[in-house]
Amino acid sequence: MSSLFLDPKRPLSTCSSTDCQDCPVRDHLQCHFCGKDLVQFLFIALPPFIVGGMGIVHLNGWYLVPWFVLCLSYFGFVEIRVMCSHCPHYAEPGTKSLQCWANYGSPKLWKYRPGPMSAGEKRVFFVGLVLIAGYPLAFLVLGMQWLLLALFLVLVVVMGAAMHTLMCKHCMNFACPLNNVDQKIRADFFKRNPVVARAWSRTNK
Ligand code: SF4
Ligand code: SF4
Repeated sequence: MSSLFLDPKRPLSTCSSTDCQDCPVRDHLQCHFCGKDLVQFLFIALPPFIVGGMGIVHLNGWYLVPWFVLCLSYFGFVEIRVMCSHCPHYAEPGTKSLQCWANYGSPKLWKYRPGPMSAGEKRVFFVGLVLIAGYPLAFLVLGMQWLLLALFLVLVVVMGAAMHTLMCKHCMNFACPLNNVDQKIRADFFKRNPVVARAWSRTNK
């Protein structure tokens, strides 16, 4: 029977350990996810989208459509290809879509590619984020919606800070340019995940 999240007691498919129970990595790195993680992510990420969307609707609701298409293409496909396909979570067999805290449900159309992102992938990753944030920003500025603009900017900063602390510091995708996991914890994870370690050591030569 398929489940909404991976079994928290079972090590990742990239992990050579037999049990997660006494793993020291477990206290620092998020190898498994649950509904609470997903809700927390949505609580952090959605507010700037809601305020940005209000700014667009204020001028013309139809302008939401291109933004919606952009978000769907980026978070559903482009980001998955350039960033998530490097993540050990992506390597899990038996699931056709992601079951993590962000991008939950996005399809896994490409093969798992352990190791760092290329310079081109990083460029695509950042350009996508700038376009997604820049689109509502343009409506807020051109529509002179100063109060909403201030709220939007504050919420973007709060979102960045909250993600940095609560997620990027504990994320197993070391390839992401925003990943902030300590080197010691990375080394502990590499010890248990030889496929990932080998891919990183090849590219560090
Ligand atoms: S590194 Fe392996 S054993 Fe440790 S928590 Fe992650 S999946 Fe479990
Ligand atoms: S990088 Fe983050 S969003 Fe992408 S698969 Fe890994 S945990 Fe999920």
